[in-house]
Amino acid sequence: MSEHLPPHAARTDVGRRREHNEDALLVQHPLYAVADGVGGSARGEVASNLALEVLGSHARAIGASSSADDARQALEAAVLAANGAVHDAQGADEDLRGMATTLVAVLVRAGGELVVGHVGDSRAYLISTTGVRQLTDDHSVVGELVRSGRLDEQEAAAHPHRNVITRALGPEPDVTVDAFHDHAGPGDWIVLCTDGLSGLVDDEEIGRAMLENGRLDPQAAVDRLVDQANVRGGTDNITVVAVQPVPSDVDDTLATRPLEVATAPAAGTRSSLPSADGVGVGVGTPTTSADGSPSVGDRLEGAPYHDPDGVAIRSRRLRTVIAVLLLLLLAFAGGAFVWSQSYFLLEREDGTVGVDQGFPLPWLHHPHAAGPVQADRLGQADRERIVESHRLLSEEEARRVLEGLPDRVEEDDPAAERSIERLGEGRDAPGDPATAGSRRDAPAA
Ligand code: MG
Repeated sequence: MSEHLPPHAARTDVGRRREHNEDALLVQHPLYAVADGVGGSARGEVASNLALEVLGSHARAIGASSSADDARQALEAAVLAANGAVHDAQGADEDLRGMATTLVAVLVRAGGELVVGHVGDSRAYLISTTGVRQLTDDHSVVGELVRSGRLDEQEAAAHPHRNVITRALGPEPDVTVDAFHDHAGPGDWIVLCTDGLSGLVDDEEIGRAMLENGRLDPQAAVDRLVDQANVRGGTDNITVVAVQPVPSDVDDTLATRPLEVATAPAAGTRSSLPSADGVGVGVGTPTTSADGSPSVGDRLEGAPYHDPDGVAIRSRRLRTVIAVLLLLLLAFAGGAFVWSQSYFLLEREDGTVGVDQGFPLPWLHHPHAAGPVQADRLGQADRERIVESHRLLSEEEARRVLEGLPDRVEEDDPAAERSIERLGEGRDAPGDPATAGSRRDAPAA
C-alpha cells in the first residue's frame, strides 16, 4: 500500500495458560490495532478477529482523510462499525452470544500525527527518550478506581477485579469510543498491547525494550516483550504491535537518563470526552524532539542486549547446578550416615577375627573392635558364614557375634577365655550369633 512503511513489528502469542488465542492484531499501514476477545470457547476469537476485519476494511478510507479531525471521525466510525458487526453476529448465531472484544487502534499520519481509537483495557503507549506515556484510559473497574484516586497502580495490579472491563465492543448496539489526536516525535514508538502484556510487564520495561532493541531490530524488541510476559507466567494471550511513526534521524550517542513513566495520560495533552454524540475531541501535543533532544532507539545503543529468555536459561542452569550439588551433598551425607552405622567381621592380618566399621571395600573401613579368636579355630561353615561373608551388621549385632565366637571354637583355646578387647568403649551383652548376621545383607566383599 505504501512504499515507505515505517519501522514496525508485531506478534501475538497464546501465552502459557490458555488453550486458544483470543487476541488479534492488525497491521495495515497506516492503521495498526490490537483486539482482545472475551467470551470463552471460540467466541472471543471470533469477536476480536471480526472487529479487526471490519476495522481493516475501513483502513484505506481512514488513511485518506484530508485532516486529522476527519481521520478521527473516520476511525471512530470504523470502531462503531466493528462494534455493530460483533453485536449483530450474536443475534445471528446462538453460539456467539456473549462475545465481546477490546480494540485499540492508531492511525499514523504524516509528521507524526496520531489518531487513536479505543474501547476496553488494551493499551496504547507512546515511548520516547523522555518517558513512557499511556495514551489510553483503561476501561476497566480498576482503571476507573485508579482515575478516581481510590486505588494506586500497585493496588490495581493486584486487584481481584483487574480483568473486569467496563466497556467493550459487542455487548450493546452502541458504544462510546475514545477517539483523539496525539503526536509522535522522531524516533518515538507507539506500542499497542493487550492486557496479557501490560498485566505482566510494566510500562518502564516496555519502554526500555523498544528503546534498547527497537532501532536495530523492532521484531527483537517485540519478541523480548512477549517472551518476558511468558517468562512471568504467560497467564493470558499476549499481543504487541509496535510502530515508529517518524523514523529516528539522530544517530549519535544519546542521553542515558532513566525513563520517566507516566502512568496516566498527561493532563492537557489530549482529552477524551465522551459526549452525547459519542465523540471525544483532543488536541495533540508534541512529545519529544521539539528541543532537538535525542531520539528514541539510539539512547542505549551499544548497551548489552538484555534477553529475558537468556536470563531465564541462565537462571535455569544455575538452579540445575545448585540442585545437583544439593543432591550430591545429600548422597554424601546419606552415605556417611550408613557408613557410620555399618560394621562387619573380618579376619585380620594376624589371623584374629575383629570388627571393622564401614564398608568391606578398600579405604572405606577402619578397625572398631578386636577379638581373641583365631579365624582358623572356627569350623569351616562358621568361618564362611560369620567371618568371610562380610555381612553388614549394626554395632550391637557385630559385638554380640564377636563375643559369641569363643563358644564356636572347635577345640579348647586359652585365648578364647580372654575378654574381648574393644577399641571403643566396652559393653556387655549376650547374644546369639546365629541370628545376628541375617538382618542386613551386605554386598559380597
Ligand atoms: Mg487479555
